[in-house]
Amino acid sequence: MGYNNFMKQLAKYRAKRKFDITPEPKGGSHKASDDSLIFVVQQHAARAMHYDVRLEFDGVLKSWAVPKGPSTNPKDKRLAIPTEDHPLEYASFEGIIPEGQYGAGKVIVWDTGTFTNKKPDSFPEAWKKGRIEVELHGQKLQGGYALVRGHGPSKGAKEWWLLVKMDDDFADHKKNITKSEPASVISGKTLEEL
Ligand code: MN
Repeated sequence: MGYNNFMKQLAKYRAKRKFDITPEPKGGSHKASDDSLIFVVQQHAARAMHYDVRLEFDGVLKSWAVPKGPSTNPKDKRLAIPTEDHPLEYASFEGIIPEGQYGAGKVIVWDTGTFTNKKPDSFPEAWKKGRIEVELHGQKLQGGYALVRGHGPSKGAKEWWLLVKMDDDFADHKKNITKSEPASVISGKTLEEL
């Protein structure tokens, strides 16, 4: 996919937001393709608290809202609802989306880093097949994570996926990482402190 498609990919994101009011980035940078891929997990106190998991793909951040957030326990299957593509600049966004704006509430960067695709499939192929496997190199999240598209209806969502920790050296069945490490990796603040 080229640049035109990338601009089209952000149309949904832009249509939902008023950039003279919200502090969120409008987007527009197109990182060189030889840079390493970035991921971010943002904690977002919108109407319902959730975590937004975003993976860089072709100039945008592919995004899922994960109500319970990521786990280090391979037995946990975390519901992940796809949301609109976000601009790359969003990976460092933390702040307060004003009342009345789309997604109003506080956002912190709970974790960020780089990732690699673990599958021989390209990212679009993996997306199509409904199984994405990545190796995360974050400050909190490490190792393999799989995103698997679910089948059948679930909680009224048109499309839903599951986010699952893969069983590797970084798997931890006891840790409750969203609880034990709640602070932003950018500001060191928790959502409450922001
Ligand atoms: Mn969100």
